[in-house]
Amino acid sequence: MMRLPKFTYLVPRTIGDAVRMMGEAGPVGQFVAGGTDLYPNMKRRQQTPRTVISVGRISELHRIEGDGKEGLRIGAGVSLTEIVEHAVVNRDYPSLARAARLISTPTLRNMGTIGGNLLLDTRCNYYDQNYEWRKGINFCLKKDGDVCWVAPGSEKCWAVQSADLVPLMVAVGARLRLVSTVGDRLVEARGFYNDDGIEYLRKRPEELLAEIRLPPAAGWRAVYKKLRRRGAFDFPVLGVAARLDVEEGGTVVGARVVLGGVAPAPLEVEAAAQALVGHRLEEESMRAAAEACYLRARPLDNTDHLMNYRKQMARPFVLRALQELKAGMTDAG
Ligand SMILES: Cc1cc2nc3c(=O)[nH]c(=O)nc-3n(C[C@H](O)[C@H](O)[C@H](O)COP(=O)(O)OP(=O)(O)OC[C@H]3O[C@@H](n4cnc5c(N)ncnc54)[C@H](O)[C@@H]3O)c2cc1C
Ligand code: SF4
Repeated sequence: MMRLPKFTYLVPRTIGDAVRMMGEAGPVGQFVAGGTDLYPNMKRRQQTPRTVISVGRISELHRIEGDGKEGLRIGAGVSLTEIVEHAVVNRDYPSLARAARLISTPTLRNMGTIGGNLLLDTRCNYYDQNYEWRKGINFCLKKDGDVCWVAPGSEKCWAVQSADLVPLMVAVGARLRLVSTVGDRLVEARGFYNDDGIEYLRKRPEELLAEIRLPPAAGWRAVYKKLRRRGAFDFPVLGVAARLDVEEGGTVVGARVVLGGVAPAPLEVEAAAQALVGHRLEEESMRAAAEACYLRARPLDNTDHLMNYRKQMARPFVLRALQELKAGMTDAG
């Protein structure tokens, strides 16, 4: 049985206390929300904080405020189950409720939070193993080693962005509020992820994610599609998020298509957007967008399913996402 290492556990009640505690803990400190990613990682010694600061009792992080008219503010500590069940999220941002429903299992969704999902560690078959397994291959660049087993000549880690809500939040234009003892900042989800499996966030370690802000829901639609081996639960090995801004007459005036699960960061495919903007959602433009995504997707052999299969599946998954938007199966948002 894998056991957690010893650590100091702190439970602040306010954001101010949490960031102060993190400042005092320094580099050995780490926040935890539901712990569904951090604790398994600690058991496998992939992450080894000596001070763990829970954000679970900070009431400010548990609120959902606003609506589709003014935009929605979701506290980072809101559980995935709350997102799935929340009336306003379902009415005004159904793509978010549906994507959250695809994450892991009901029990894990009760514990796991939206904030933890957006900050989820990158994943790789050579990394998501216990300590003895990783020691057996002399570890790897991401933790304790000096070679990447996926691309041995590479100085970069290619561990995969594997959180379902990340591509969707990038596609819909969400913003993230980060807080530290130095102050607050609001960043676009779009520029927040870094294409490196180790330094995968443009976030300072001491910053707390406080809130996710969604734009007003009028005039656009979004959808998320997920490829995984088992429907019951599994991480995405390909995710497709699409947002379309559509005029009254049906012409697409804005588009974002973002792939997850194929690189260390979510991959926005601008050529797909270009294929869609200025046209009605017709078979030809949708197929062109799907082809553009197929060409840009270059997954490596470090998660479930063969990499070529994951690349091939980009085409039908993008097409399905766009067809679903066309059919109006997802309401506004
Ligand atoms: C069996 C299994 C299946 C899973 N399947 C999926 C899946 O299909 N799709 C998917 O996307 N995920 C999946 N997950 C991963 C995980 O359950 C979810 O991503 C969940 O949303 C993580 O949230 P959490 O609150 O538990 O994160 P935690 O484990 O608490 O934290 C994750 C990371 O975020 C940091 N963090 C958390 N909150 C904050 C904050 N407010 N400010 C700063 N840092 C913070 C932590 O330090 C840690 O680095 C799965 C996990 C397991 C164990
Ligand atoms: S991509 Fe390479 S460096 Fe990164 S976790 Fe996998 S084996 Fe390690």
